[in-house]
Order: sequence, then structure tokens, then C-alpha cells
Amino acid sequence: MRIINLNPDTGIGASAWFVELEGHRLLMDAGIHPKREGRSALPMFALVAQQEVDAIAISHCHHDHVGALPVAVRHFPQAHVLMTELSYFLVERVLHNSVNVMSRQCGELGIKEYPLYSHDEVDEIAALFQGFRYNREIEWAAFHKLKPGVLSPTMELYDAGHALGSAGIMVRGRHETLFYTGDVCFHDQTILKSARFEDIKADVLIMETTRGNRPPAPGFSRQAEIDRLAQAIDRVFQRGGAVLIPVFALGRTQEILAMLALEIKAGKMRQQPIYIGGLGRVFTEIYDLEAHRTHRHLQNLRLTETLNLQVLEKGQVDTMRLAGRLYVLTAGMMSENTPAHDLAARMAQDEKNGIFFVGYADPDTPGGRLKASKPGETFLFSARAGEITRNCEVLDFDLTAHANRDELLDFVGVVEPRAVVLGHGEDDSRQWFEEQIRARHPKMKVIQATPGLNVEV
Ligand SMILES: [Zn+2]
Ligand SMILES: [Zn+2]
Repeated sequence: MRIINLNPDTGIGASAWFVELEGHRLLMDAGIHPKREGRSALPMFALVAQQEVDAIAISHCHHDHVGALPVAVRHFPQAHVLMTELSYFLVERVLHNSVNVMSRQCGELGIKEYPLYSHDEVDEIAALFQGFRYNREIEWAAFHKLKPGVLSPTMELYDAGHALGSAGIMVRGRHETLFYTGDVCFHDQTILKSARFEDIKADVLIMETTRGNRPPAPGFSRQAEIDRLAQAIDRVFQRGGAVLIPVFALGRTQEILAMLALEIKAGKMRQQPIYIGGLGRVFTEIYDLEAHRTHRHLQNLRLTETLNLQVLEKGQVDTMRLAGRLYVLTAGMMSENTPAHDLAARMAQDEKNGIFFVGYADPDTPGGRLKASKPGETFLFSARAGEITRNCEVLDFDLTAHANRDELLDFVGVVEPRAVVLGHGEDDSRQWFEEQIRARHPKMKVIQATPGLNVEV
């Protein structure tokens, strides 16, 4: 089996894995690097452009896994694009939104290469997309390679519990198997139930390592964290401030909204309008619509009916009155040209306000810098907003949608692969996993897949 990590970066970056198995070739994920700009944010497709890729499989619809899909299809026009049926409902919306974001950045930041693909292109390639239920055997080899009597490789998508439609990908050849975790969550969230990765065995495991550098806090409980968030929101309203929770549109938005709905139902928070973005609204509707085919809690909770959701129009956050209002807005890391970025720049000066992080924010992003700032400190928030002084309350809540490192380590023991390829993590995260796996499983091969290099396993 041959594997190439096409991520242009050693950190989380742009997920994309090229796999060659028994004469067939597969691309798993085609992400965009969240911090890079222009073509440098793309996976290194050129390295494999000469090879015929039979199929492209998408683990889930987050930008760092799917944002470069139209570019991948340009390289491999004959490949079918396989994903879960739930991702199938989301993927076009994600890609069209990314055209909009890139077009805006082309104008405002002067990134000439943007957009990297067009709305027309997204519409054209949509015909290649195929959605499948979890735990079905899928044939993915190119049709002209199929020979009578010879078994072709298959694929099976396993529920990864990370965001709606997320999957781990099992690839089965005649002699060998590979499992790719994608982004995975081994604990229940408020809506989504934990991953169903039971009894998975594979010869080779490609594993995410997001939280390898973060030991769980002693005595940690997710419910205690949710209560702490509800209390913090209440505190801000008591003193007449506004609350901003920066989130990603898919997954995090709906999980936070569900938590708020439960708090309101329990009488711990008062019913009031919650301001969200247009894309957050679209995905929230899809969470509601597809509840019946989702492995989830609160099957009957309809967020769009239970909550008083108000969609913000473009530019509205610049002028509206803030006091007493609750915002659940993109982007989670407050990248420039997002509502969360503009609103945070407006809110930070006033000590009555609260900005509450509920997910990872890279230290090099506006969100990461705000998170790291001290009360009263003036710092460079972003090129667009310039320096701001942080007087508002800034708190961090651990409500991750990624597996804890010990859970992933246990998972390695279940899968019993001969080789583990470490991905989707910073250097220190992957290093931690390498040391732990070597200590626990001395015979297992642990591979730090250098971007762009052939790995034979
Ligand atoms: Zn993800
Ligand atoms: Zn990811």
C-alpha cells in the first residue's frame, strides 16, 4: 500500500491523502488550509496529477477536508466523489459559500488568485457526488478496471460523531485494509452521539491527532462546562453587556444552539433572540430536517422552532445596538471578513461584554490572539481592524468535537494495525502519539507522514 500526505503543511492544514491499493487509487479528503491564502492553501495535487485516481472520498464537510474538492475534480475528472448521504445534503452549500468568501477576499484583501473555483464549477461537478448510508459496502474502483471474477476494492463509511455526516473511511482490498479516522469524537455531544467505530480492525490506520498536545483537565465534565457557559452568559446580561460565541457554521453552531435550548427549557436562561449567520441558519435547518436519519440525542428537538433565531444581514453587526444581545456567529477563529471578527472588534473595548470561545482557535488567528490577550491589553487583532484594547471578559470552554488523546490511543489498541500514520495535528500532538504508541505497541510501525513523500506500508 502506498500513501502520500498531500497536506502542504505539517500542522492541521489541508487534509488530503492519496492511497494506492492493489492497483487502485483513491483520494481521501480535499481540504483547504484555514490559515494560508491563495493557491498555497491547496493540497499538493500536482504530485499525483499524472496518476489516475479512481475515486475521491470525503470524510466530512468542514473546510479543511472538503474546501478544495472542485480543484481536486479538475485534476481527476473521471473520479466519482463519495461521501455519506448527510454530507451530500451539505456539500454544495459549503462549496458555494466558500466561493462567496474567496470572492470577497479577492476584492478586500487583493488576493488575485481568488476565487479558486466558481459557482458554475460547483454546479457542474455536483453531478459526480454520490451519497451513501453509513455501514454499506461501496465499490469505488474505476469501471474500466473491473474484471469479471476479480474482487474490486470496497469502502465503508463509519459514523465519526464529529459533525453531521462525518465519517471514518474503511478501505478494503483483496489482501489489505486501511482505516482513516477523519475527524472523530468518542464522546457524546449535546446533539450528536459518539462515533460508532466498534470492532474496527485494519492493517493500516491513518489517525487524526488534534488533541495530542492537550491532556484532559482532571475531574473534567462536559455538563459542568456547559453550566459554566450558561452562568457566564447570565452574568454578562446582568451587567447589561452583549455575548459573542464565535463558532464554525457546521456542527459547533448547532451544538451550542442545542445547549442553549436545553438551558432555556430548564429555566436557567431566559428565552430571547439569538443572532446567527446565514450559513449557520442553513445548516441548522439541515440538522433539523435530517434528525430522523442522524445518530443523535434529542431526536425531536427542532432548533429552528424552539429558539428565536435571527439571521444577521451583512453589515448589520456594525451598526446595531449590542447590549443584552446574544450572538452565535462565524467564524470560530474570527478570521477577517467574518461577522465574528467585526463584532469582536466592536465589543472588545467594553468591559460589560463577554466573548466566549467554545472551540480551538489557532494562536496566529485574530481569535487566537484575542484568547491569549490579558484584560486591559492593547494588541494587534488583525490587519483589517488594527490594534484593539481588550476590556471585555474572554473565556474559553472545552466543548470539543474531537476525541481526547487517551481515547484515540485506546482506539489504536482496538484496531491493531501494523502501521499507524499520524495526521491532522500539530508537531507536539503527533510527537505525543508517537511516543505513547511506541511504548504501548512496540511492534507497531509509527509514521509521521512528511508532506509530499511516498510512504510504503
Ligand atoms: Zn472537522
Ligand atoms: Zn479537521
